[in-house]
Amino acid sequence: MRDLTGFRVVLVHAHPDDEAITTGGTIAALSRRGADILVVTCTLGEEGEVIGETYQHLVADEADQLGGFRTRELDASLAALGARGAYLGGAGRFRDSGMAGSKASRNPRAFVNSGDAPVELLAQIFAAERPHVVITYGADGGYGHPDHVRAHEITHAAAERVAVPCILHAVRLARETAALMPAEAPQGWRLPEEGELDGVDTADWSMQLDDAAYSSKISSMRAHATQLWIADGQVSRTNPHAAFGRGPVVYYALSNLIVQPIQRVEHFQLGAGELPAEL
Ligand SMILES: [Zn+2]
Repeated sequence: MRDLTGFRVVLVHAHPDDEAITTGGTIAALSRRGADILVVTCTLGEEGEVIGETYQHLVADEADQLGGFRTRELDASLAALGARGAYLGGAGRFRDSGMAGSKASRNPRAFVNSGDAPVELLAQIFAAERPHVVITYGADGGYGHPDHVRAHEITHAAAERVAVPCILHAVRLARETAALMPAEAPQGWRLPEEGELDGVDTADWSMQLDDAAYSSKISSMRAHATQLWIADGQVSRTNPHAAFGRGPVVYYALSNLIVQPIQRVEHFQLGAGELPAEL
């Protein structure tokens, strides 16, 4: 049912893969209903770790080729989700800031050191797109990465220059994540320690994913092969050993190999404005 034709959504994400992991199902579901969706990505994720051996030497401390490589992964992810993509200020304008206190965080080109420029650039995007909804992270950036915190800050600052009717923050519900954990981890992976994964207690709006949206979300996550493995029994370009989960929930892991569920419901808290009637 294409009941959202003419409905416009802009997402502001920090790195390639965040769109897939945190909001992929919602993007896919809204896109299938006819909504026009733009994913704005603020950095190339140059400082990310790489999972598996295949592309290990692309990292910032060696070839420093990860950022350009990840643009291709993002393209494939967005194609799977049915969304347009744009880099804030153009691809490579702002660099991944790495973890707080790292050498990368002191790079003058790091996103955290970018001053007012990204606020103005994002305000221009809001003015051109006139979104009904903007989606980003909460004030803690979801899990505390400085680029995620910064994405939150510039989104709210830009929305003060060009009003948007609604800002939503993507969150996970802690109890739901805990309830979805398998009894044991796929071979070579591990279960999270208490409090190791981010999560909140309540949400204001949730998107239940149908099988098509869930499958598109998994495809978009699979496109980020330098970043994550999926326990669906398939090998990938970076994972020569198929991992297996059990039951209707599919699991994934980042380079820390901690099991995380790919949830069939995505949750959001209201960050500003009011939920549009269309949702
Ligand atoms: Zn990120």
